[in-house]
Amino acid sequence: MSIYFDNNATTPLAPEVREFLVAHLDEFGNASSVHQAGQQAKRLVNTAREQMGALLGCQESELIFSSGGTEALNTVLLANFLPDPQGKHLIVSSVEHSAVLETAHYLESLGAEVTRLKVDRQGRLDLEELRLSFKPQTKLVAIMWANNEIGNFYDVQAIGEICQEKGVPYLCDAVQVVGTLPIDLKKLPIDYLVASAHKFHGPKGVGFLYRRSQAPLSPLIRGGRQERGMRAGTENILGIAAMAKALQVARFEEVAEISALRDRMEAELLKLFSDLRIHGELNNRLPGTSNFALPGVSGETLLMNLDMRGVQVSLGAACESGSMDPSHVLLAMGFSPQEALDGLRISLSRYNSQAEVDSFINLIKDF
Ligand code: PLP
Repeated sequence: MSIYFDNNATTPLAPEVREFLVAHLDEFGNASSVHQAGQQAKRLVNTAREQMGALLGCQESELIFSSGGTEALNTVLLANFLPDPQGKHLIVSSVEHSAVLETAHYLESLGAEVTRLKVDRQGRLDLEELRLSFKPQTKLVAIMWANNEIGNFYDVQAIGEICQEKGVPYLCDAVQVVGTLPIDLKKLPIDYLVASAHKFHGPKGVGFLYRRSQAPLSPLIRGGRQERGMRAGTENILGIAAMAKALQVARFEEVAEISALRDRMEAELLKLFSDLRIHGELNNRLPGTSNFALPGVSGETLLMNLDMRGVQVSLGAACESGSMDPSHVLLAMGFSPQEALDGLRISLSRYNSQAEVDSFINLIKDF
């Protein structure tokens, strides 16, 4: 048996994306070359940019392809603070992904000032705290759209409006949202938005940064003139084209089914374990995400046992597992280090089924 319940860590390729990749594997041209192979490669990138601009409601010139979410987030953070971070102020939430938190920490070590907004026991932010955190020297606000561990959505509309009022650009990590929910960037008060193809059934090593024209930016990676000089390096042609394909075939109408599957799973778990603790804001979460702890059962033991029986789940963020550090998100929510070690995350996608959830429930009964 193999059941994959770790879709917030990464997702399997959509069959349509796989087919597309296989069909284009021999496209080897460099988009900067003037000959036919180069021009064919350029067409693939241009078409991907057109399709994605149309799907996301932005101009093509506002999209910068990158190697993924981490690079795009680093690009914006460093562009707004380097080369002179002293005296500049950054606001982040305390539950951001490490791509933001570690970069914030690095900027702090270089002299920038960082405010980390608190969350409550359900992982919710207080937007009044955000409003009060601005200083004359605030250069950027980075708050994610949805949290990868507990699934909470944050109110990007309200956050963006506050940032606009204060005249400070807003960076939104939408890695868990793009491809899961429809997005219309025209209507959103967001200056920078970041996404990553491998979270929405596309390939790894490719993502994008949306940057509203006029928002300050300088390249993280310098060299050639690719991406209008904002991201040097030969383009990952197939990755970019496959990312556009993954976005095209995203099926947003299945969101309700995924959340119903998750809700049925949680209801079954609650029947089995009346003291089950479910983390996060239960009625305002990513459709497939469930983060919970079984009191008295270590998360690590549960994860290992499930894995031996073919069910793949996660403890906190995948990039931190292996180190077995307590989840920084659960710690920020006020759980003890032991409680924060026990959080188990299940993240479902459109490729999971009720039969898989039933098998999982049958297995977990015996713990
Ligand atoms: N931001 C969030 C919310 C994520 O979940 C992830 C991936 O785990 C990232 C950023 C990093 O994206 P990537 O894996 O493309 O570097």
